[in-house]
Amino acid sequence: RIVLGIETSCDETGVGLVRLEPDGSVRLLADAVASSVEQHARFGGVVPEIASRAHLEAMEPTARRALDEAGIKLSDVDAIAVTAGPGLAGALMVGVSAAKAYAAALGVPLYGVNHLLGHVAVDTLEHGPLPSRCLAMLVSGGHTQLLSVAGVADEVTEIGSTIDDAAGEAYDKVARILDLPYPGGPPIDRMAREGDPNAIAFPRGLTGPRDAKFDFSFSGLKTAVARWVEQAREAGKQLPIADIAASFQEAVADVLTEKAVRAAVELGLDTIVLSGGVAANSRLAGLARERCAEAGITLRVPRPRLCTDNGAMIAAVGAHVLANRVEPSPLGLSANPGMSVDTVVLR
Ligand code: ATP
Ligand code: MG
Ligand code: FE
Repeated sequence: RIVLGIETSCDETGVGLVRLEPDGSVRLLADAVASSVEQHARFGGVVPEIASRAHLEAMEPTARRALDEAGIKLSDVDAIAVTAGPGLAGALMVGVSAAKAYAAALGVPLYGVNHLLGHVAVDTLEHGPLPSRCLAMLVSGGHTQLLSVAGVADEVTEIGSTIDDAAGEAYDKVARILDLPYPGGPPIDRMAREGDPNAIAFPRGLTGPRDAKFDFSFSGLKTAVARWVEQAREAGKQLPIADIAASFQEAVADVLTEKAVRAAVELGLDTIVLSGGVAANSRLAGLARERCAEAGITLRVPRPRLCTDNGAMIAAVGAHVLANRVEPSPLGLSANPGMSVDTVVLR
């Protein structure tokens, strides 16, 4: 059976197609993404109105592209999955409306699914079934969370999360401080390769004995970078951008991987799935690999294209709930911008 997945929670319009095989495995057929990221660049962050309009324009062509890529017709689709939340209200509404129209026209079930679980489920498209329980480390522009996940997405418990900025948000803000382009992850990742990660000792948030041990904080780190840059500028020094980028990146990767591995060990989980846009970061993935190897933990990281927002991850959740005969969402489904991580399918 074929599942079409639609993603419009932020600035990517994604349509993905997957095939649920009789043996329960799920295969990626197509993954078409249109991004409005360039339209937001001069604002230094996603502008919701611009994102919604861009989704409206991109929805139909992106769906066409996915069907062409898979070499199938719309009428071959057996179920529709769509991001019902969390995300930007206006942006979500575009995807949900399109999904309802497709489901009604085709007479197939509709599943309004959780975007965050999509970031975890997408790994099954690349590395096959997940163990019965694993630790998911979700690091993106809007989220930084440690989740204990059973099934692909059946039972999800939050172990920890950021108390202020998300990791990707910290990258974007630090890039702005360093006059690097938006989104900040890729340029900082590139600059950091030329720099010394130990040049500047930036703070690791929430690592004190009395801090919640699996929560994160990145706003202090961002402020520390801003203060360091300001002082260097006042002193009339040439900014060592590569060293700042490398030292900032080290602080982020260090605290994320340290807490993720400790959580997995304490919970007795032998697999970590690292996903979300920041999982594309070379140092984060590298350090996670080192520390997981030391702790005897299997690390799974989807390829970068599947780490950032896309429709295939939503189709992957759809295929999973379809396989488990989960009851579909009503055709009157509306998006829930604040959808909680323990809800897989929205009613
Ligand atoms: P969410 O999934 O939480 O709703 P989102 O759509 O912003 O939010 P993604 O598309 O998964 O999330 O990720 C985008 C974020 O990833 C941006 O903040 C970007 O700077 C960051 N990012 C992308 N590539 C890299 C990289 N190589 N290193 C670090 N960060 C990166
Ligand atoms: Mg994005
Ligand atoms: Fe996302």
